[in-house]
Amino acid sequence: MMKSTSETSHEPLSPVVLPRSGHSISRKKIDEDTLKVLYRLHRSGHKAYLVGGGVRDLLLDRTPKDFDVGTDATPSQIKKLFRNCFLIGRRFRLAHIRFGRDRLVEVATFRRQARPDDLPENPEDHFFFAENIFGTPQEDAFRRDFTINALFYDIGSFSIIDYVGGLEDLAERRLRVIGDPLVRFTEDPVRMLRALEFSARLGFSLDEATREGIYVRAPLIAEAAPPRIREEIMELFRHKVAATVLRDAQAMGLLPHLLAGFEGDRETFDLLARVDARTADGHPIEEHFALAALYLARFRRACPPESDITVSDVVRIAGLVLSPHCGYFHIAHGTRHQARELLVGFFRLCRGRGNRGERRFLQHPMTPQSLDLFSLWAEFSGEKRELAAAWREALTRITEGTEKPRSTSRRRRPRRNTRREPSPRPSDS
Ligand code: ATP
Ligand code: MG
Repeated sequence: MMKSTSETSHEPLSPVVLPRSGHSISRKKIDEDTLKVLYRLHRSGHKAYLVGGGVRDLLLDRTPKDFDVGTDATPSQIKKLFRNCFLIGRRFRLAHIRFGRDRLVEVATFRRQARPDDLPENPEDHFFFAENIFGTPQEDAFRRDFTINALFYDIGSFSIIDYVGGLEDLAERRLRVIGDPLVRFTEDPVRMLRALEFSARLGFSLDEATREGIYVRAPLIAEAAPPRIREEIMELFRHKVAATVLRDAQAMGLLPHLLAGFEGDRETFDLLARVDARTADGHPIEEHFALAALYLARFRRACPPESDITVSDVVRIAGLVLSPHCGYFHIAHGTRHQARELLVGFFRLCRGRGNRGERRFLQHPMTPQSLDLFSLWAEFSGEKRELAAAWREALTRITEGTEKPRSTSRRRRPRRNTRREPSPRPSDS
């Protein structure tokens, strides 16, 4: 019988066990290095499970991003078993087993959630402690976020072990928090964003209590550590679900607490949907591109191309528009600079052709990306499509060398008595 996920993990439960004949995970789908690690742990008398997203994705017939291993061997026992093992992490002790130059398998000892009496007196040590208490497989399943992320594949029996009702939720295509969402979202508010992310990635519905929990606990996300939010937001872009998730976040009242001051307007969501489609087409998404897309609508309102605003004003406004986000998330200067250049490039493209400094602007390394942004915007807005096509043609002519780039064909001498063109690198001016 399926156990309710609201039961606490204190008393032992018997899990649902699906034997090899009852599921579709074949060892052929598991990468070789991971199998080696699983087998060696198992041969040495330890429990060795494939855990987390890998099991979920294999059961859904999707290609897992990576495979994680869970075991009852302690980090030092793991280290003794593998010559190529490195223990990493101060807060969360993990074993990395390296293969070749750039392959690695992550192995974690089963953990459980800390109970109040586990915690040391000094509150500053709580976080470190809370994530490092070893536990049983059952406890390890219950500390995880969603039922579908808490399934185990046991290399000893080739069976799936389910303590939390994850198999049923997979079959129903439902995303459900393990335990009480109000409690689990208070413990870690980032789980609210992850809930929306997985539901969008997998096309799963949110179970009712999980949805309610997000409505109620939404303000808490403002307290999450900025680096974690920054990383999760980039995950949304990498998984091509930025538009869907941010739109859901807005509908559920999460967005204003997630990105303070961010305006989730129709134009932004339409643009993000195009950005996701561009990533799906095989363009790797970089953070500066994501930032420029997030703040393009606001920038456009601040800098209408028809106005007689100067390029140096545009540079300043682009910087101001990006500044609260970049400051809060400690975005590196280089990334900020590139995001600003994209916005300024967008302005120059939008303003039309034939302006001073056009040739050098076309040769600038950021211009192709500005043009991507401009073309995406032109596509959904229906505006300036011909202009986008004309710019594309001009850029192709320059890059294919039909028009010889002047600045690289010979060294330019400074011209006397003529006004220099304004700098083509907008944000350098
Ligand atoms: P993917 O790697 O495909 O994005 P994943 O499920 O592997 O998905 P990770 O972020 O790699 O997600 O995390 C690995 C596992 O760790 C998850 O499947 C989940 O069981 C657990 N986990 C991750 N983040 C949390 C969290 N905030 N709270 C509880 N458990 C978590
Ligand atoms: Mg993962």
